[in-house]
Formats: sequence, structure tokens, C-alpha cells
Amino acid sequence: MSENFKDIFSELRRKMISEQLISRGIEDKRVLEVMGKVPREEFVAPGERARSYFDGPLPIGNGQTISQPYIVAYMTEMLELTGSENILELGTGSGYQTAVLAEIAEEISTIEFIPDLADRSEKLLTKKLGYTNIRFKTGNGAEGWSEYAPFKRIIVTAAPEKFPESLFDQLEDGGMIIAPVGGFYQNLIRYKKINDEIIQTGLIAVSFVPLIV
Ligand code: SAH
Repeated sequence: MSENFKDIFSELRRKMISEQLISRGIEDKRVLEVMGKVPREEFVAPGERARSYFDGPLPIGNGQTISQPYIVAYMTEMLELTGSENILELGTGSGYQTAVLAEIAEEISTIEFIPDLADRSEKLLTKKLGYTNIRFKTGNGAEGWSEYAPFKRIIVTAAPEKFPESLFDQLEDGGMIIAPVGGFYQNLIRYKKINDEIIQTGLIAVSFVPLIV
């Protein structure tokens, strides 16, 4: 990519940070710093690059979407990361949210159901962008990834109608899950595990693609 394009995208990133994130109340310095750095234009479908910093979701192929920047920032802020976490992510999709997490936390395990998207995001994140703290799996995220459990955080970026509660077994005590739940009307839900009990809090209304299966 020419230097001019790089400049344009970094300017669009700066605008996204101030007009879409800070203006709506995102405060976590790490989240703002990292989203000011990860090249969102690499993650959208090729025909969408010019719109990659648009204030909404965009197509990534296979009928799926990359989430709106604000939603990525909001979910990441809600995870209250300190940097030492191992995170399970369900719904790798383009890998954009994965990259944001990998910049902040220690270790990311990410699962994508559609093989084509799983291949693309793995290549982009490892070969092109050089991340070394992400492990990839193709399959049904609702089953989790028991080999690497328990996780300190679990983030879900496709909406189940009803939350797959067996995932609570893969959450560390003191840990947290952020997930959209519902059908046409969805809410972002936070589940905290405290003394082996699950405490549930509703956050905001959202609109994600459905969790398949
Ligand atoms: N975080 C992604 C958003 C992707 S959209 C991004 O930033 O691009 C949701 C993704 O969840 C889609 O790629 C979809 O294929 C995937 N998905 C749907 N059901 C799934 C399941 N059961 N297990 C794993 N991934 C699933």
C-alpha cells in the first residue's frame, strides 16, 4: 500500500477514536490506544476498504459482518482487561476483535465455525500482522475449548437465542463473560462467576449475527 493510503487510514482511525468512541464514553486508555493502531482496513471485504472506518458493521464475506467499532470498543472495555488474561473468543470472523484483544491480553484462544473465515483470519493475524499469542480452532464455539480452560474472560461475538450454559464450566472463578443473547432483539449480557455462582447483568441492546447451530 502506498504511503498516501497509510496516511489516509491513520487519519480515519484518529477520527474514529474521537467521533465514535470517546464521544460515546469509551474511556479505557488501552482500548483507545489499540484501536488507534489496529488496521481495520485489513479486516473488511476487499470492496469495503474505503468504508472500513464507517460507524457501523460491514460485510466480511460468507454472509458475516465485522462489528461496528463502537461495539468492539465497548465489549473490550467491559472485559476490564489488565493484560495478564487468557481469553476465549467465540466467532473469530474477520479477526478484528481478536487483534484488539491480542494487543491487550496475554493469550487468546479463538474459535470460528466457517472454515473459510477461520483460514482467512488466521493467515491475516499470524502471517501478515505477526501476532504470536493467538491460537485458532475451526468448530462450534458453543462447546468452548476445554484443553485450555479455565479462561479468565470469554467473549462471544455471535448471538445465541439462549446462552450455552456449559461454557460456565470453562470460566475461572472471578472471571467474566460478555455475550450478546437473543433472537431479533438482543442484549449484551455480562456473566460474572463469583464463588462458583453466576451473576448476570444486562448491558445494552445490540444486533449480532446469530450463533450457528
Ligand atoms: N468479532 C468478529 C465478528 C464476526 S461475526 C469480527 O470482528 O469480525 C460472528 C462470527 O461468528 C461469524 O464469523 C460466524 O461465522 C461466527 N460463528 C457463528 N456461529 C458460531 C459458532 N457456533 N462457533 C464459532 N463461530 C461462530
